[in-house]
Amino acid sequence: MSSPKVRVRFAPSPTGGLHLGGVRTALFNYLFAKQNDGDFVLRIEDTDQTRFVEGAEQYIMDCLAWCGITPDEGPHTGGHYAPYRQSERKSIYREYAEKLVAQGHAYYAFDTPEELDAKRKEIPNFQYGQFYRSEMRNSTSLKTAEVEHLLDQGTPHVIRIKVPADETVRFHDLIRGNVVFETNQVDDKVLLKADGMPTYHLAVVVDDYLMKITHAFRGEEWLPSAPVHILLWKYLGWAADMPHWAHLPLILKPDGHGKLSKRDGARFGFPVYAMDWLDNKTGELTPGFRELGFLPEAFLNLLAMLGWNPGGDQEIFSLDELVEKFSVERINKAGAKFDYEKAKWYNAEWIKKVDAKRLLPEAKTILEAKGIAVADDEKLLKVLTLVKDRCILLTDIYQQAGYFFETPKEYDLNAVKPKWSDTKTDFFGSLINQFKEVPSFEAMQLEIDFKYLCEETGFKIGDVMLPFRIMLVGGKFGPHVFDIAELLGREETIARIEKALVAFGS
Ligand code: GLU
Repeated sequence: MSSPKVRVRFAPSPTGGLHLGGVRTALFNYLFAKQNDGDFVLRIEDTDQTRFVEGAEQYIMDCLAWCGITPDEGPHTGGHYAPYRQSERKSIYREYAEKLVAQGHAYYAFDTPEELDAKRKEIPNFQYGQFYRSEMRNSTSLKTAEVEHLLDQGTPHVIRIKVPADETVRFHDLIRGNVVFETNQVDDKVLLKADGMPTYHLAVVVDDYLMKITHAFRGEEWLPSAPVHILLWKYLGWAADMPHWAHLPLILKPDGHGKLSKRDGARFGFPVYAMDWLDNKTGELTPGFRELGFLPEAFLNLLAMLGWNPGGDQEIFSLDELVEKFSVERINKAGAKFDYEKAKWYNAEWIKKVDAKRLLPEAKTILEAKGIAVADDEKLLKVLTLVKDRCILLTDIYQQAGYFFETPKEYDLNAVKPKWSDTKTDFFGSLINQFKEVPSFEAMQLEIDFKYLCEETGFKIGDVMLPFRIMLVGGKFGPHVFDIAELLGREETIARIEKALVAFGS
């Protein structure tokens, strides 16, 4: 029998911004699917209405679009297994929960929130399960007639899984190998809530089955839920169709102590979310990789390396290369420490690697935000070609390219003033005259003329080169100064020298 078509799913809950670990989960699912000519499904797991956040689903879609990981099926794309939002599938789940009750693998529980609270107070680390089930108000502890009466009266109730005592749940994880859980450690999770909504545990199993999911890559934080899911797959009679599990290693804080959280971003000053996320309730803005100046190519590349080891020296991978080279066998079990310096290194490498044209849209947005509207794309392309290797973040484009489009507002006077002299003023006066006459205003020619003038006037090149740079750029940075002059053009170069002479000499 041929194996079924590979189908994976990214199943985020729309509860806020998307943590980089979430995007990595999406990426690994995507890579595996594409490598196997499979389908990448986006399913929105929004059954917990209390945690639902307006705008979060759109944000997830936008993140995936920014990264270029396009779902083959999903709430916006549609598909054969629609709907892809669990809240819209509400009517599907009850049937399965009732089936489990009928088979004795689940039960009705009538405990009120107050009763549950009282029990939690009475028993430290209370778990609703085999040890206390009989002390609670449910269809395993109450008489059948009473249960029927409560149900007839429409008493609010949930349905819980009945986790068996003294059993061992085993499964094979593609990353962790054989995993074993003792059922005595597992509590009777709620499957269907009083409002008729399924919980995550029921919905994830039913949907993975109905959507014919073959492989599930998800974060290690879901590992403790796995035994409940595996029992459900078995009880619902679907064990043969259960997806292959792959629990991805945690992304750890830079010091390796604990999971990287949103709060760590604020603490250490780096992004944790894919894109800016604005919490409408608190007004809090959590910065994202995109807005801080990361290229999506670099973001995906660095995410891939958080937990996956390509097994060679190559570190820079495009999405296509990742699809080709990705291998589940090379995903590490151990958590991956997040290193922001390394993340920036990936970005700088990607800025170097891509064509200047690729950076045009981002560069224009960044410059526009600083009040520089670029009308001449050709010029910006030349500028980007010249300066992109000096940018670590895309936002550096303003510092590195902005002065090509606006005359420096300020100069690094400390670098020139102490050593300024009238003879230097004269030197630049002569330079202006030369630049006015040079037939072609090209870097190489300008450099020859500049050096020639140095010889004539007895200046060391180093003494006048730095002031020249500061005249054109404002500071002690930038590419070869004659390249800058060529790009600025004759008129602008001369105008900048004249303007700076006033500032330097005063
Ligand atoms: N809805 C879960 C989440 O928010 C999905 C977990 C899973 O992939 O099973 O991450």
